[in-house]
Formats: sequence, C-alpha cells, structure tokens
Amino acid sequence: MASRSKFVLLGRRVFQSAEGRPVRGAFDTTTAGLYLLPTSVADALDSPDVAPTPAQTAALARAGLLTDIGRADAFLHGLQRASEDLSTRTFILMPTPACNMGCDYCGQNHNGHSLKTRYEELVVPRVVAVIRDPATRVVNIDWFGGEPLLAKAELFSIASRLMAEARKQAVEYRSQLTTNGSLFSVSLLRRLIGEAGVTRVDVTVDGPQRIHDLSRKMKNGASTYDRILDSVSGALAEPWSESCQFIIRTNVTMETLPHVTEYLRDLAARGLCGDRGPAIQIAPVHQWGIGTDAYEVAVSAFAEAEIEWLNLAVDLDVNFLPLPDLADEPCSAGHRGTETIDPQGTVYDCPELALRPPAPVFVPLGRRPQAGAQARPDGALMADMTWSTVIESPPCRSCSLLPVCGGACALSRAQGQAQCPSMKHNFADRIDVAVRRALAANRECG
Ligand code: SF4
Ligand code: SF4
Repeated sequence: MASRSKFVLLGRRVFQSAEGRPVRGAFDTTTAGLYLLPTSVADALDSPDVAPTPAQTAALARAGLLTDIGRADAFLHGLQRASEDLSTRTFILMPTPACNMGCDYCGQNHNGHSLKTRYEELVVPRVVAVIRDPATRVVNIDWFGGEPLLAKAELFSIASRLMAEARKQAVEYRSQLTTNGSLFSVSLLRRLIGEAGVTRVDVTVDGPQRIHDLSRKMKNGASTYDRILDSVSGALAEPWSESCQFIIRTNVTMETLPHVTEYLRDLAARGLCGDRGPAIQIAPVHQWGIGTDAYEVAVSAFAEAEIEWLNLAVDLDVNFLPLPDLADEPCSAGHRGTETIDPQGTVYDCPELALRPPAPVFVPLGRRPQAGAQARPDGALMADMTWSTVIESPPCRSCSLLPVCGGACALSRAQGQAQCPSMKHNFADRIDVAVRRALAANRECG
C-alpha cells in the first residue's frame, strides 16, 4: 500500500490514454497539477489492498504525491507573505454609485451621492503617489460600481493620467473592468482596451436570453443579451482585443439552474468558444442571509448540475473549466496593497462593504485615501483571514482543497456564514471532466 498525500485527489472513471492504456485522473491541489495515472497506480493509492511496485512508488514519491508534510503550513505562510507584498498594488475604483440595472440579487444601494467631478482629483494623487513608490512594480486599476461605464468620461480621464504616470515610472499597468455590459459596443471595447489600458473585462450574463432579461433587469426595460454577446464576439474577432481577457460571469438560482445547458449551447452557436473564446464562470447567487442548511441544499443541487454543464462545455469547446487554479493570492480584503475607494472617497478593505447599508461591526478604513501612507491600515477583516484564523478553524486546516480554495471568505466568516464552494461537493467528478477535456482531440468549436 502507498500512502498518498491528502492533497492528491483521484477521479472515479477509467479512461483510455492516447497510447491506449487504462488511466485515471489525479489532481495535486498544492500544485494544481493534473496527472494521468495508470489504473494500477491509482488503485494502489486508493486502496489498502493493492500495492504499487517499488518503481511505481519511487515515481509517485518523485512527483511529490506521497507526502503532505508541511504543505499546509507552507501554503499559509505564502499567503501571509503575499498579503504584505507591496510590489503589486490594486485600486478598486468606483467612479459612480449609479446603475442602470435593478437586479433582485444585487444588494447594493445605487442612490448614494457621487462626487463625480471630484472623484478624479481624489483618487489620482493617491494612485500616483503609490506608482511613484520605489517598491511598486505593478499597478492594477479595477473599475467597479455601480456601473462604471455610466461614468465613462471620468474613467477615460483617470485612466489616461495613471497610464502616463505608470509609463514614466516603468511600472506595469493592468486594468480590469467589472460591468453589466449594457453600454457595450465593439467601438467602446476598442477604446477601453486601447485608450484606458483595460486588460480584463468581467461582464455578467445570466442567460439564456429570456432568463437574462428577467434576471438582469434594465430600469428602462430594454434587453441587453444580444448587445453584450454580439459586442464580445465582435471584439474577440479583432486583433486589438488580444491583450484583453474576457470573462463572462453567470449567476444561477435554483429557478434558473435548469436553463444553463440551453445557454451554453447558445454561447457555442455564437462562436464564443475555442481558444479565443471568453472564460465562463458560473456561480450560485450569493445570498448572505440564508441559513446553513438551505445553503447546503442549494449548493449540492448546484454541484450536481455543474458536472453536467462541465461535460457539455467539453463537448462544445466552451471555456468553462473544471479544475481551479492555486489560490495563492489573498483576496482584496486580505492584501494590504489593495484599496477600494467608493464614489464618496471612503476607503474599504473589502469591496463587498462599499455601496451597502452600513453593518455595525465593519467600519470604513478611512474617509479619504491616506495621503503619504504606504499602505492602507488593517481593517477588522484582516484578523479573520485564513492564515490568521486557520488554527482555530480545523475544517480548513485539514481540508485537501485549502491550496485551491484559500479558505472561506473572511466576510462570511465574520458574519457567521462561512461556506465551502461547490467544488467541495464534486471534486472527483471535476477531475473526470478535466481528463475528458485533456484527452479530447480535434474538437470543433461549437
Ligand atoms: S472553505 Fe471549505 S473547501 Fe475551502 S478550505 Fe475551508 S473547508 Fe476546504
Ligand atoms: S472578505 Fe470575502 S467578499 Fe471580501 S474581498 Fe475577501 S473574499 Fe471577497
């Protein structure tokens, strides 16, 4: 018997390798590496009754699949170091609280006052000071809202000033736009990429069309489904979009869950698949208020449906990927070099806290970005980060998924609602889908 690392998880199914040998999938969560193991080796890892040969044992040991000593500690120390690293700085900018959609699950308050003309004067000096800090190597500007494209003029003006400063200081400039996509056009995407330096676009589509229009309600009643997807596919067909990654985020409720297969087929029919296709992320609607039992029911149903969608995505060559990457970067609230600045200039650690009714236990970090301070002060959430609390949190400490999950969200933990993601419920099946994807050859997009 070989004792496998607890971080090595096995798939269930037997596949034929390209050479015609029977294989099973294995995934090492400490490296996010997928292996195809001969079934004799996988069975030996899986069962106390089967012994691998000495040569197989040596090969498994060389691949690091037989030990987990110190791996959880090393991962958590790495997260702590990353949380204090000030060479990469991120600013989550919210130039307006307004949104032209009124989605039921949003939870933001869009009626706050925007400083509009003053927002630029508030944030540019702070970000410029950070770009000029000799420790800064990379600056990320993340546009968030409300709907940031409702403040398009401010966005372009702020971006051009920050890009110029980053060029002058030889600091790498990256920028992410999180948007509802309602104002998209191919020409606007071209300007965002070319003039505002946007390198990643995250847009929400809760398809198929009739579901999207019910879920992503425009205040003027218009449909945005075709506009968003036509603009994304139009942009992806152009060489100027190659520097930009497109992510389509889809929120699913128990009611909309049965419609996801139709939606995936529509994406493929529109050509939103293949190597240049957008990455698809499908997530259960985040309901902070529901009890743990209700969450478990919902997440189990979601996890079961997810395997069907992932298999369909392999057949359609849609980029909805079964296995996670390493979670070796802390979230925004856990990184001292990240500041969320709301439309009134208040600084937060967690972007989920901005534009929401104030919660008595969380206070904004500062009324204005800190002049002269190298990094933001620590907020209440910092003490609740995985690497701080994991010793008192045995479920994460002993969990095989810790290196790809990172532990439950600190905000949900602080609110007594820490929950595991759907992969906790379906990881072996995900490995099988990943092996199918890896073995699929000569797939046709769509
Ligand atoms: S939140 Fe759940 S899945 Fe993630 S590390 Fe903790 S116990 Fe594991
Ligand atoms: S605390 Fe939770 S919601 Fe806030 S940034 Fe971190 S993961 Fe996101």
